[in-house]
Amino acid sequence: MDSIRRAHRIAEAEAVARLRGLQPDPDTSERISLTALRLARRVRAAPPGVLSAESFLRSYGLTTPEGVALMCVAEALLRIPDPETQDALIRDKLASGNWSPASAADWALMLTGTLARWHSAGNENLSTVKKLIARLGEPVVRAAVRQAMRILAGQFVVAETIEEAVARATERRPYRFSFDMLGEAARTAEDALSYFNSYSRAIRAVSPPDAVSIKLSALHPRFEETKRARVFSELLPRVRSLAKLASERGARITLDAEESERLELTLDIFDALSSEFPIGLAVQAYQKRALPVCGWLAGLRRRITVRLVKGAYWDGEIKRAQQLGMPDYPVFTRKSATDLSYVACARTLLSAPEYIHPAFATHNCRTVATILALGGQFEFQKLFGMGDALYDALLAERPDVSVRIYAPVGGFTDLLPYLVRRLLENGANTSFVHQIADPDVPVEALVADPVASLPEPYEPDPRIPLPRHLYPDRLNSLGLDLAHQKNLDDLKQRTVADRAAEPAGAVEDTSPQELDFSIARAADAFETWSHAPAHERAALLERAADGLEARRVELVSLIVREGGRTYNDAIAEVREAADFCRYYALQARKNFGTPLTLAGPAGERNELRLHGRGVFACISPWNFPLAIFTGQVAAALAAGNTVIAKPAEQTPRIGFRALEILYAAGIPSDAACCVVGPGETIGAALVADSRISGVAFTGSVETAKRINQALAKRAGAIVPLIAETGGVNAMIIDASALPEQVVDDVVISAFQSAGQRCSAQRVLFVDEGAAPRVLRLLSGALAELKVGDPVEPDTDIGPIIDAPSRNALLFHVQELRTKAKLIGEAKAPATGHYIAPIAFQLSLDELPKVEVFGPILHVCTYRREELDQVLQWLRDIGYGLTLGIHSRIQSFVDDVVRGARVGNIYVNRSMIGAVVGVQPFGGEGLSGTGPKAGGPHYMLRFATERTVTVNTAAVGGVTELLAGNEGAQRAS
Ligand code: NAD
Repeated sequence: MDSIRRAHRIAEAEAVARLRGLQPDPDTSERISLTALRLARRVRAAPPGVLSAESFLRSYGLTTPEGVALMCVAEALLRIPDPETQDALIRDKLASGNWSPASAADWALMLTGTLARWHSAGNENLSTVKKLIARLGEPVVRAAVRQAMRILAGQFVVAETIEEAVARATERRPYRFSFDMLGEAARTAEDALSYFNSYSRAIRAVSPPDAVSIKLSALHPRFEETKRARVFSELLPRVRSLAKLASERGARITLDAEESERLELTLDIFDALSSEFPIGLAVQAYQKRALPVCGWLAGLRRRITVRLVKGAYWDGEIKRAQQLGMPDYPVFTRKSATDLSYVACARTLLSAPEYIHPAFATHNCRTVATILALGGQFEFQKLFGMGDALYDALLAERPDVSVRIYAPVGGFTDLLPYLVRRLLENGANTSFVHQIADPDVPVEALVADPVASLPEPYEPDPRIPLPRHLYPDRLNSLGLDLAHQKNLDDLKQRTVADRAAEPAGAVEDTSPQELDFSIARAADAFETWSHAPAHERAALLERAADGLEARRVELVSLIVREGGRTYNDAIAEVREAADFCRYYALQARKNFGTPLTLAGPAGERNELRLHGRGVFACISPWNFPLAIFTGQVAAALAAGNTVIAKPAEQTPRIGFRALEILYAAGIPSDAACCVVGPGETIGAALVADSRISGVAFTGSVETAKRINQALAKRAGAIVPLIAETGGVNAMIIDASALPEQVVDDVVISAFQSAGQRCSAQRVLFVDEGAAPRVLRLLSGALAELKVGDPVEPDTDIGPIIDAPSRNALLFHVQELRTKAKLIGEAKAPATGHYIAPIAFQLSLDELPKVEVFGPILHVCTYRREELDQVLQWLRDIGYGLTLGIHSRIQSFVDDVVRGARVGNIYVNRSMIGAVVGVQPFGGEGLSGTGPKAGGPHYMLRFATERTVTVNTAAVGGVTELLAGNEGAQRAS
C-alpha cells in the first residue's frame, strides 16, 4: 500500500521511467504493429453501423459546435419536465449550429419513424436541421428530437431493465456481459438503498458467465476519505451482502473505478472483501498509481478478476488537482504515457495467472494487438455500442478469444449524462475511437508504438502546467490533500495538541495609548516604506507567501481552534492568504514600479506615478480571519502604505500570527502593526484618527456605514474607504439543471462554513417543475451532514462563532418553523454553539431582505414566467454580492446575468470560494464599494496618483526634434 501511496502524485517523468522497462522489445513491437495495422484496416473498411459511436463521432466531432450542441441536448432533454423548457433547450442548442446537409441526413436517420410523418407532410427534403428547428413549437418537432435522443441513447444502453438486458445478452453470444446499473452517485440514504436494491436484483437476474459492475459511490451518499469510519461501518456490510449474494448465485461482481480520491478507500474495501469472495476490481491505467496497484493485487495471491481500463475522468482529475493546488497530478498528462502504463499493468496482471484473471477493456487496435502478443489467460472488454467493428474483426481471426461487453442498463433519463461523459471521453481528439473515425488520420499513425511518440527526455504535456504553475506570472498556492488519511490524522493530532497547550485567557485588548503609539510609529515609518522600490516590497510579500505556506499546518490548527472552521476551510484560507500576497506583489511590480509615460507634445515628458497614501487602517471580520486580514494588509503594504491592522475581536491570535509571519519574511515591524479589541472602541478610535489616510474594511454593512459616517465627520482630508460587506445571495435554477449537481452545489454554497461566509447562499429559487426532485434530494443530503467539533476530520459543519450570533439565528429558525414549510434539516450536537443546517420553503414576499449569517436556506419556487419578478426582487433588496445560476440553456443564463446587479456570478457550480486573481471578489449596492479584492483594480484604491511633467525644452531645445531633423537632413 505504501508504494501505491507514494506513486499518487510523483513526478510524471519518474512514473514513466518505471513503465519503460515493461514495454515490449523492438521485435515484439514490430509484430504488434503488424497485427494492429491489420485490425485497424479492417475497422476502417467496415462500414460503421448506423448511429454507432464511430459514425456519430465521424459526423459530429466534439470539437465542432454542432457536436457539443448535440451532447448538451442529449445530456439534458429527457429530464426536463415541461415542454416550454424542452423547446428552449432545443432552440438554444440546435438552432444556431451550422448543420451540414450530411449531418442533417444522420438526423433524418435518427428521426426515422417520428419524423417520417412530419416529412411527408410537405418537407420532403430535410436540407438542414435549422428548417426543422424553425418549426419549433410544433409538438411533433419536440417529440422528434426527444425520440432522436432516445434512439441515440439506445445505441449505448443495452436495456432499461436488467431482465431485458439479460435477455438481450443471450442473443449476443459468444459475447459475455458485465452489466452496469446506471445512475449518478447517491446523494441520499434513499438513493443508496434504491441502488442497493437494483444491484441485488441484477445479481439475482444474471447467470454465469455474465457479471455485475458495482459503483461504490452509488451505495453510500458519503463515500469519501473523511468519512472512512462510516464507510466501513455502513457501506462495507452492504457490499459484502452483494458479494455474498453473487457468490451464492455463481455470479461475479466487479467494483468500478471512480475519481482518484476514492481509490484508497476502494482498495481497502476490496481488500476486506476479496479474502472472503471472488470479486473483481477495475484499475485505471491513467493513474500514476496503476502499476503499484496491479503489483499489490498480484501480491494478494487471491483469485480475483481485474478489469484494466484507461480511465474516464481524466479532465475532471486535471481540473480538481489544479483547483486544489496539488503538488502534481494523479494522472498522466500524455495519452501515450497512459498507453505505456496500460501495457505495464497488463504485463503485471498477466504475470500472476494462478490468481488473476485480467479483463482488458479497450477499443484501441494497438492495445488489443499488444495484449495478444503478451499472451496468457485473459478476456477483452468493450463498451456496449462501441468498438463493434474491432471486435468483430478480432473474433473472425481469433474465435478463441473471449470478449465481454460492458453494458449500461437503466432508464434513459438517468443514462444520458453518463452517455455524454463516455462519448466526451472517447470523442476526445487523442482517443482511438475518435481517430479511427477520422479518414484524415493515417492508419499507420494510429497504431504506432506509443513509446516512439514519447519525448526524450520525457516531459509532461507542456500545455498542462503543474497546478503550482497554473498562472503564467505567479505561483499558485499549495493545497493539502484531504483525501489522504495520513494528512487528516496529522492535522487532527496537531490541532488537539495545540488546543491542550493553548494559553488560558483572552488576548489583551490594545489600550488607547498603545493605539496612539502604534499609529505614530506607522506614520513615521511611512516615508521609508513608501520609497522602497515596488519590486522590493513585492519580493518581501512573496517571501511572506512562502512563509504562510511553510507554516500551513500550524495556521490550519489555529484557524480551526480560534475561528471554528473545518480543515477544508482552513486550508483554503491559508491558500487564499498566500495567493493575496503573491497577487498583490505582482500588481505592485506591474503598476507601482516604472512610472507610466504618457503621450504628449514634443519637448515635454509626462509620467504618471502611483504612491502610497500614508497609514492605512485594515479592519477585517472574523469569518476569514487569515485570508481577508492578510489580503488587506498585503495590498496596503504593496501599494506603499504602512498599516494598522485590526482583526475581529473573535480572532485576534490569527491576526497577530499573520503579522509575525510577515515580519519573518522581512517586512519591517513598524510598517505593519496589529491592534486588537472591540470594534466600537479600538476600531472606532482607529478610524477617527486623523493620521489614518485610508480604510480598508470588510464586515457587515451596518459597521461599514458607521465607519463611513465617522470618516465624514473627521476634520481634514477626505480619505478613501474600501468597504466589502454582506449579501442576500441567491441561486436561481431552471428546469434544465441537473438536480444532483444543483444539490451538491447548494450544500456547499449554503452550509459549508456553517453559512458564515459573505458569499454564502441564502435563497434558492427553484423552477416549480424541477422542485420536487431537487427538494427531495436536498432534504436527503441535509440529513447526511455532520455538525460538530471541527477538530474531527469527518465534521462537515462547525460551530457558529459566538453565543449572540447563535441566539439570533435560533430566533430566526424558530420564526420560520411557525410560518414556513420545512424542507429538511441536519442534526446538531445538544451542547456547543451549533446550529443544524436547515432549509425552509417560503413565498417571494416572505423571503428575508437582510443577511442571515448562518446555515439557513430559504427556498422559493417560481414559474418560468415569473423570472422577471424574481430578478426584480433581487434588485430591490439592494444587495449585490454573489449569485448562482444552474441551467443548461444559455439564453436563460444570459437573461439572469443581464437582469442581475451582482458582483460575482457563478454558473453551474457552487457560488463560494472565489480565487484570487481568477474571480476577483466583491459586491455592489449594499454589498460593497469595490474595487474587488484579488482583482487588478484593488490596489489602485490604496494609492494616490501623481503626475510629473518635465519641460525638456527648457534645457537647450527640443532634443528629440532636433535629433530627428538632423537625421532627416543627413539622409537627404
Ligand atoms: P462586523 O461588521 O461586526 O465586524 C467587522 C470588523 O469591524 C471587526 O473587526 C470589528 O471589530 C470591526 N468594527 C465593528 N464596529 C466598528 C466600528 N464602529 N469602527 C471600526 N471598526 C468596527 O462583521 P463580522 O461579524 O466580523 O463579519 C461578518 C460580516 O462580514 C457579514 O456581514 C459578512 O457578510 C461580512 N463579510 C463580507 C465580506 C466581503 O468580502 N464582502 C467578506 C467576509 C465577511
